[in-house]
Amino acid sequence: MTESAPRTAIVTGGSRGIGRAVALQLAAEGYHIAFCGRRESAEAEETAELIRAHGVQCLPAALDVADYQAVDTFVKRAEEELGPVHALINSAGIVKDNALVMMPLADWHAVIDTNLTGTFNFCRAVGFHMLKRRTGTVVNISSVAGVYGHATQANYAASKAGVHGLSRTFAKEMARYGIRVNVVAPGFIETDMTDALSDRARAQALSIVPMKRFGSAQEVAELTAFLVSERAGYITGQVFQVDGGVAL
Ligand code: NAP
Repeated sequence: MTESAPRTAIVTGGSRGIGRAVALQLAAEGYHIAFCGRRESAEAEETAELIRAHGVQCLPAALDVADYQAVDTFVKRAEEELGPVHALINSAGIVKDNALVMMPLADWHAVIDTNLTGTFNFCRAVGFHMLKRRTGTVVNISSVAGVYGHATQANYAASKAGVHGLSRTFAKEMARYGIRVNVVAPGFIETDMTDALSDRARAQALSIVPMKRFGSAQEVAELTAFLVSERAGYITGQVFQVDGGVAL
């Protein structure tokens, strides 16, 4: 870590995939890490072990990011047990794909609640502490679907486009206090989320990626860690795509 003293980062969706890669990258840079997933799982336990192997403290938790009270309690615990939260990375997310006219209402709400309301909940709970200290940085993980739209992902694309609006607004509100807010919008990344794609869907996805491969979670973590760091000290309110060149 280029910054002087150990600092604390909260990573949502840190048990697996992109969130885990971000948590491990920040742990390697000296951050204490509080992370949450939805469930208690072997993956979450393994992530906690990998984080501690970097010699930093770790606070794992199982909670629903859509539940504001649970989020607020977790943030307060992280502040008490690990120290002031300097960085927040919102990576928890789900997909429930279907054509819009066939989409069950419950699937619309579940995706909006997790991806958009979950991001709002953590920004609100952590932002309050950052504001008091006049320091901090936030990176929200969205998706290229939130930029271009993606057939069968009306709920997901709307949630991620919502994250862009939320983040740009939050960046404007927090800038005068020295707090930066940015978005990383991945394309197709090798995680459990894309493992679930059928062979046909995978081939279709690859056909729109000029680099002709999916990205790795580590490639998303690298940009995220840069945006968290003071090397990105004059960057706020931006959406950065990590997508192998996808464009419609
Ligand atoms: P993933 O491997 O499926 O992991 C999802 C993570 O989110 C897990 O840690 C999961 O916890 C957690 N989570 C899900 N719902 C939650 C809830 N309600 N409360 C708390 N935690 C919850 O997903 P990923 O591929 O790493 O995706 C991470 C982020 O990147 C998501 O926001 C996703 O939309 C975005 N993204 C991914 C891709 C891609 O190609 N993979 C592309 C663009 C954007 P459990 O382990 O407990 O289930």
